[in-house]
Amino acid sequence: MVVEILAVGTELLLGNIANTNAQYLSQKCAVLGFSVYHHGVVGDNEERMTAAIKEALGRSDVLILTGGLGPTEDDMTKEVCAKVMGFELAEDPHTRERIESYFKRTGRTNITKNNWKQAVVPVGSRVLDNHNGTAPGLILEKDGKTAVLLPGPPNELKPLFSEQVAPYLHSLQPETIYSQMVKVCGPGESAVETAVLDLIDAQTNPTIATYAKTGETHLRVTAKAENEEQAKKLVKPVVKELKKRFGADIYSTSEEESLEDVVVKLLKKYKLTVTTAESMTGGMLASRLVNVPGASECFHEGFVTYSNKAKRKVLDVSKATLKKYGAVSEQTAKEMAKGGVFASDSDICVAVTGFAGPEDTKEEPKGLAYISCYIGNEVVVREFHFTGNRMKIREQAVVRALDLLRRCILERCKNEK
Ligand code: ATP
Repeated sequence: MVVEILAVGTELLLGNIANTNAQYLSQKCAVLGFSVYHHGVVGDNEERMTAAIKEALGRSDVLILTGGLGPTEDDMTKEVCAKVMGFELAEDPHTRERIESYFKRTGRTNITKNNWKQAVVPVGSRVLDNHNGTAPGLILEKDGKTAVLLPGPPNELKPLFSEQVAPYLHSLQPETIYSQMVKVCGPGESAVETAVLDLIDAQTNPTIATYAKTGETHLRVTAKAENEEQAKKLVKPVVKELKKRFGADIYSTSEEESLEDVVVKLLKKYKLTVTTAESMTGGMLASRLVNVPGASECFHEGFVTYSNKAKRKVLDVSKATLKKYGAVSEQTAKEMAKGGVFASDSDICVAVTGFAGPEDTKEEPKGLAYISCYIGNEVVVREFHFTGNRMKIREQAVVRALDLLRRCILERCKNEK
């Protein structure tokens, strides 16, 4: 089945907001096994919206519209869509009650008249209760075509989609889709794709799709089958083959698990503590670790030592090292990691020093970075040449620092249970 996404809002056309809803919906539809061939954006204009809806319903089975369900005059998605599909409109007492209680709950007493517009729904449509706002989602079905109307704010759209629309869409597909993610860190995107090109070319069920992320590549293996058990059976050998090909470059096969989740899990498993000594990343590495709930068990403190003076004072990097090799050097990275361990009394320290640009300097090319990890009286250091703008370079450094930490823990603890 083919799904099309049409985002409504003049703000989108003006570039005031990015169409993140389309990205979210497309990703979710792909996981559900739907094909998405078109995305559209249309302003708050009845004529153009009518034409866009007609065109989309003409070529796709399911049209998902986002935005324009609010109380104001220019919110007209529901009215236009109902007219195009031939639905009457009438007030839904249940939705009116929900709007009333929503306002009460959020402490708003002066409900303006236009709010009741949101209680008006196409007669015969499915009304999806919105727990985070006042405009309900709607599903309109006619002549083998479906329109799903969702509010624009992502904090309303996402729960509505995952809790109510996804199960509905799933019921439209006779087949079950099962997919598994394989997350790779280390080789670049093109190297990952080249390594699996034969698998991608050889099969259509399951399919393998690659997604480039900052500093990592994700591979999604998706199978279609009569039921979940059969789909899983198709996915399993492919994931096994990917594990064989990428080995320790794979940090997770779980959709939800991030690199920092894996690192914190390993630190807890082996009862280790870590600290960070950051120069170019300015605390971003520490921040990624703190993303994980419960990280305080293994991460107590981190250091941001941006200047040479700070590197000397806090991490005891020697003056001679800084003078001879410079702040962006293998030697400085090593001393930062060692100094971090002693300054914090942690088991491990990951240090990052580099040059994020924006321009090359005489001494250091933009993107050059050294990442080191001090663990068990040994220090490992890696040299990197990142590309992109200042922020991208710093983000890549954080990913590679987390990955180095992960690899060092695994290497160090490989004989432990
Ligand atoms: P409301 O009741 O808040 O008016 P609505 O369904 O009418 O909701 P819009 O008025 O179109 O939605 O958009 C409300 C807000 O939702 C926008 O200001 C924007 O912050 C966000 N939004 C709308 N469309 C999108 C989109 N396609 N992608 C990301 N955010 C969006």
